Amino acid sequence: MKSFRGTPANHFDMPEKIDRLGKLAYNLWWTWRPDAQRLYKWIDPYLWEETYHNPVKFLRQVRRIDLNAVIHDRNFMESYEQVIGDFDKYMQNNDSWYIQNYGKPEIRKIAYFSTEFGLHETLPIYAGGLGVLSGDHAKEASDLGLPFVGIGFFYTRGYFTQRISDDGWQTAHEVTMSFEDLPVMPVLETDESPMTVSVELPGRSVLARIWEIQVGRVPLYLLDTDVKGNSEQDRRLTAKLYSSDLDLRISQEIILGVGGVRALRELGYEPEIWHMNEGHSAFLALERAREIVEKGGTFDEAVELIRSSTVFTTHTPVPAGSDEFPLWLIDKYFTELWPKLGLEREEFIDLARHKVSWGETFSMPVLAMRMSEKINGVSELHGQVARKMWQFLWPEKKVSDVPITHITNGVHTGTWLARRMGVLFDEYLPEGWHTNLDNPEMWDAVMDIPDEELWHVRQHLKRKLVWYMRERARQQWLADTVHPVQVVASGALLDPYMLTIGFARRFATYKRAGLILQNFDRLLKLLNRPNMPVQIIFAGKAHPADEPGKLLIQEVYRKVKKAETGGRLVFLEDYDMNLGRFLTQGVDVWLNTPRRPNEASGTSGQKAALNGVLNFSVLDGWWREGFNGKNGWAIGEDKDYDDPHLQDAEDLASLYNTLENEIIPLYYDRDSGESYSMDWMRMVKECIRTNAPMFSMSRMVKEYTTELYQPVMETAARANGKAAKAKKLA
Ligand SMILES: *Cc1c(COP(=O)(O)O)cnc(C)c1O
Repeated sequence: MKSFRGTPANHFDMPEKIDRLGKLAYNLWWTWRPDAQRLYKWIDPYLWEETYHNPVKFLRQVRRIDLNAVIHDRNFMESYEQVIGDFDKYMQNNDSWYIQNYGKPEIRKIAYFSTEFGLHETLPIYAGGLGVLSGDHAKEASDLGLPFVGIGFFYTRGYFTQRISDDGWQTAHEVTMSFEDLPVMPVLETDESPMTVSVELPGRSVLARIWEIQVGRVPLYLLDTDVKGNSEQDRRLTAKLYSSDLDLRISQEIILGVGGVRALRELGYEPEIWHMNEGHSAFLALERAREIVEKGGTFDEAVELIRSSTVFTTHTPVPAGSDEFPLWLIDKYFTELWPKLGLEREEFIDLARHKVSWGETFSMPVLAMRMSEKINGVSELHGQVARKMWQFLWPEKKVSDVPITHITNGVHTGTWLARRMGVLFDEYLPEGWHTNLDNPEMWDAVMDIPDEELWHVRQHLKRKLVWYMRERARQQWLADTVHPVQVVASGALLDPYMLTIGFARRFATYKRAGLILQNFDRLLKLLNRPNMPVQIIFAGKAHPADEPGKLLIQEVYRKVKKAETGGRLVFLEDYDMNLGRFLTQGVDVWLNTPRRPNEASGTSGQKAALNGVLNFSVLDGWWREGFNGKNGWAIGEDKDYDDPHLQDAEDLASLYNTLENEIIPLYYDRDSGESYSMDWMRMVKECIRTNAPMFSMSRMVKEYTTELYQPVMETAARANGKAAKAKKLA
């Protein structure tokens, strides 16, 4: 196997004693190790904030005298040795979960395709939940030692930065990333020129170069068409995520699917499992079919081979949300391909034909399902919905027999757990807890944490959140870019000792961000009760082309700005993974109000639960499985509606009643003479104990391995064995 490695753009000139900080910067292991991040912060905390927690950019700018200073700080050096020692041990680990169960793999057998990866705020190549899930999946694959490699895009303009105007209108600001400043490395040929792959688009070939990001032990390869030799227009093909322009979108998906397979081949990988995370990458099956047919196989043989090594995860519970292309576009892009596959046009279209209200489409999830051995949804309810939604593909089967299973999503514990919570767990959980994350019994030890100590950490995290928000509001004011009321709207008047509710997510209309504002007078009374006040923090972006989403932000923002709220309703701009961490660690209650069953899983509430933030949510997605009556609250009941107006009305009533009669009084129930409510703390512990193992990425990736990857590999191995035997006999 050829072995190409990305090459760091920078060789930092560092004092020898701490020169490993340079190499560490290029492995995203630091994104889930707060102690590693603290080393950089220690050297210059202001620069660390200014560079947005990006160690590569940080080391390019840090002053030599600040580097020299820490060498003489014994505490720093001790911490440095510890972190570097842990990193080396991690990278060389020969005793990972995967090795223990399946032996030491010789090659990287599992290729994971996703159109976005949310790894850290410094790499805005994700839009929301799907990306964060992919990033967390890659990190956990590294932790568990899976022979795993990721494929995605390096969007050079990233996902946009959000600003909110005085009138509540979202404006999108472009970011430009320069790779010298990022923990991303170009993959080079032996002559140092960038390694590229070529992909045919109508009338031309487009080049894509390959970048590498090291995610612990897992390599992630990202494609980028901003290459010399491409036309100006083609150089911008992969600049941004999720264009609404159809030509751009299909071109991107062809580059991901076809170019992704070619990149893996070029890099010398021979995957045995091809995992498509959502349908965007389903064209990879066409490229694999082309390879096989070119070598003399028939298309049917190709499909059989591809199926026996492909896994597909669907995330979309509504037909309108799935990725589909009109047939004229398929003609435009694939007319040259179908003869190469030995297919007629109609046969080709049949691979992904989907009848929708306005006609026929070429549906990426349909293509993905036809080409996969294993298919899964991302929560139990979503599995049910998906079986019903796609039953037409298996007309001979009953809905319950449709071969779509589910594996409920989880979150990567190291990435989302607050550092101070981790310190508490070090003290009270059994030793080695962080390599035993999915074990429910292990988490019983949470009950031993003294209320007082847990409360102090919870308070600390809320204060951190409030200070951070005030500082951001101050910066805006200082920059003289906002109207005074916007300073209040972004949290200048928040109080760190008050019951605080968080609502942060993409502003898609099904998430019903405005639900809690519907009965505004009743809400104002709740916010301003003198003995038990409440504050609510909103954050979230709408897709730039999603007008209803932007109107929803405006509706929320206009209410936030009203004087009667007393500054207790707040909207934070630019929700990203950084703000996501602050919020899911810092608030008391995590509110989620999707219109069931549209939330396939949701993961932000899992991040909150891990940190002892209580969920208050509709019984949809993961919370329908996590809620046990003692570890948070449900909005509405475990039931389906035919009438969305009735559903909204009933959910609204349930929301207000529970908030007013249960949540707020419980939080302020301090008769015991303590500074906190003992019943509240009991619930916090129950919340961590039950949710942390069940919704860990560790549990999730183990399930993907045992239920999808390994069985598929074993079936394929048996089939190959049979084929080899047949050949021998012949
Ligand atoms: C976790 C996360 C999400 C996912 O949010 P859900 O509302 O649970 O789907 C989206 N965006 C960011 C920045 C996140 O960190």
